[in-house]
Amino acid sequence: MTRIARIGDLRIGGGSPILLQTMYDRPLGSEGEDEFRAHMISLKTMGCDIMRFSYPRREEHDKLVQAVRLCPMPVVADIHFDYRNAIDAIRCNVAKIRINPGNIGPRERTMEVARAARLNGCAIRIGLNSGSLPRQGDGLTQAQLMVRSALEYVDWLQSAGLEDIVVSLKASDVDSTIEAYKEFSRLSDVPLHLGITEAGGLLSSSVRSTVAFTRLLDLGIGDTLRYSICGSIEDEVACGAELLRTLGKRKRGIRIIACPRCGRCSFDSQALIAAVQPALLAMDKEMTVAVMGCVVNGPGEAKNADIAISGLGNEVMLYKKGEVLCTVDKDKAAQALMDAVEAYNG
Ligand code: SF4
Repeated sequence: MTRIARIGDLRIGGGSPILLQTMYDRPLGSEGEDEFRAHMISLKTMGCDIMRFSYPRREEHDKLVQAVRLCPMPVVADIHFDYRNAIDAIRCNVAKIRINPGNIGPRERTMEVARAARLNGCAIRIGLNSGSLPRQGDGLTQAQLMVRSALEYVDWLQSAGLEDIVVSLKASDVDSTIEAYKEFSRLSDVPLHLGITEAGGLLSSSVRSTVAFTRLLDLGIGDTLRYSICGSIEDEVACGAELLRTLGKRKRGIRIIACPRCGRCSFDSQALIAAVQPALLAMDKEMTVAVMGCVVNGPGEAKNADIAISGLGNEVMLYKKGEVLCTVDKDKAAQALMDAVEAYNG
């Protein structure tokens, strides 16, 4: 088991619940205060626990301070190249910074950052990516190079007295990523953040990341994770929350069941799912919702779901815990479903 790293009010590792992260996909300050706050609350409701922001310039100091103030989750600043940005981010009271010591210069710069983090109660994630390894060669695999660098950097941080350390070892291929995490966890008890880097769009990232995460989590490896998707950050959080629910590691959130559709489908269940899914995933409820195209499997799934809908000719039937609530015109299916879900209280 890994040891614990503190990040704000949260604990990473040591058997704590696995936490989900995502990364803000635009520059700091892109949204107005109210819009930003509502956006962050929505992501938190979807299941996000930790929010990371790029911090490329110290000129954005006030914007980072504002993000820390408005975000209802611990804020992580992502730093590259200039160690002074890391120290400045720590002064903005972020809960954690993510650095790759290999790209911020000599060891003493990382040590200076680590000392500042320790004094301010800020954690550090050593984030290594296979594409930015400081050294190549030596006959080592990509995974071995990442592990060797990570262990060396952990030593640096520890020698500065910092205890709240997390490591990530991301490659863009599943096997190298798994090899790196397995090897590192054999040699160290530092908590691990899981990710596949440059994983692609929703389809490729969700498949590749899920394969890697599942294999690692089955081995007891991984304390936080992020789906890196060339797409929306809502999709990143939704994928992570769905994985944790599917693995039985998290209960909160709405579990959605839907049939795949076939020639018997009597209403456009695909359009219905597309219309209601974002709102369902952003609701703070713990329940199961089923959307079924016809009565072949509709009543059966309805029995197992808290709220269900199934097609019946030009109408849809709405169920609550297997009991028919009402029948409505199929054009009103989305609204009827959302009304029933909102009204549901167990
Ligand atoms: S529930 Fe009906 S529409 Fe959906 S896949 Fe089964 S038979 Fe087809």
